[in-house]
Amino acid sequence: MKIIETVAEFRQEWANLKELESLSLGLVPTMGFLHEGHISLVKKSVSQNDVTAATIFVNPTQFGENEDFEDYPRDMKSDLDFLDCEGVDIVFVPSLEEMYPEGFETSINVGSIATRLEGKYRPGHFSGVATVVCKLLSICRPDRAYFGQKDAQQCAVIMALNRDLCLGSEIVVGETIRSSDGLALSSRNSYLSDSEREKALSLSSGLFAARKLWRSGENASDRLRSVVLNEILSGNSEVPVEIDYVSVADKNTFMEIDRIEEAGNAIILVAAKIGTTRLIDNVALV
Ligand code: AMP
Repeated sequence: MKIIETVAEFRQEWANLKELESLSLGLVPTMGFLHEGHISLVKKSVSQNDVTAATIFVNPTQFGENEDFEDYPRDMKSDLDFLDCEGVDIVFVPSLEEMYPEGFETSINVGSIATRLEGKYRPGHFSGVATVVCKLLSICRPDRAYFGQKDAQQCAVIMALNRDLCLGSEIVVGETIRSSDGLALSSRNSYLSDSEREKALSLSSGLFAARKLWRSGENASDRLRSVVLNEILSGNSEVPVEIDYVSVADKNTFMEIDRIEEAGNAIILVAAKIGTTRLIDNVALV
């Protein structure tokens, strides 16, 4: 596995590999502190492409001023071991200066989707995501790029970005990987104490309960939202919880839906702070 820190080196390495034969490239962008969710994307890429590149870059422009950029968990050695074991060929680990050299002022405005849900609670977040993903896709020019359904709205933003700017990669979305008790894996789960983790389970159990109710024939969104809210707010936990949103939304536009008319178009999403850790999760209504 080759570890590369600069754009020029990455381009040279990929040009060298491609020169010998026609190869496909899969790209898995991450912020590191890897878990089985990331690894599921890596495995998909390794199985679908000749060459897989992963990136590890904690992107400051997608964090708000009072968010956890400084504290975001990092463990480069363990990440590199993980990726090596999975058969990743290239890891791109650019510095801040490499990604945002002096004079860098470009940013991508992703439009109305960024005014909803995550975009509303994290102003500027999707612009930061879109800009860094656009840059990574432009540097690496992968045939396929892999993202997780865990960040469903991010996937929609990236698909629109890729389509609107003709970036030319196929965007592949991998399912959300959960621990056996249902909690969606996230690098931020490492912030949780035992009692907070216990409380965090109410996010996925609430979503699963709402999906079950929908599957039994309920299609009024407010009823489904109530199930999630009740699940999160019930119980005697001492852990403080602050819910940003519980939403039943169109899976492409992320606009609220009042009534689910058609299977496969809607998604239930939740964002909440458990203690001081903000977590998100979602399930598709299928
Ligand atoms: P991050 O390092 O959090 O930026 O995540 C990198 C990629 O991994 C993103 O495309 C995420 O959506 C994806 N990802 C994060 N958590 C999970 C999970 N539990 N299951 C599947 N993919 C995930």
